[in-house]
Amino acid sequence: MVSPIVKVDDKHLPLYRVVWVADLPHFCGEEDCQREGYYEIRLDVEDSIWTSSAERDEVLEALNRWCGDPREDSDERPF
Ligand SMILES: [Zn+2]
Repeated sequence: MVSPIVKVDDKHLPLYRVVWVADLPHFCGEEDCQREGYYEIRLDVEDSIWTSSAERDEVLEALNRWCGDPREDSDERPF
């Protein structure tokens, strides 16, 4: 079984909570923004976690493993 848990920063995140993962780093132009340059991982509640590009890539990989169909003989798409 592929683990549906991925670690981001200090948080163990169940992949089924992820709604979307940012392709580009956050930029809003506000001077005191704490999240500039971080990648947003949107969760299914009104909440997000913020991470580096490397960790963002790890989350995407984990999502692909988790959502992908491990059976080679199937030509059905997972969605
Ligand atoms: Zn901002």
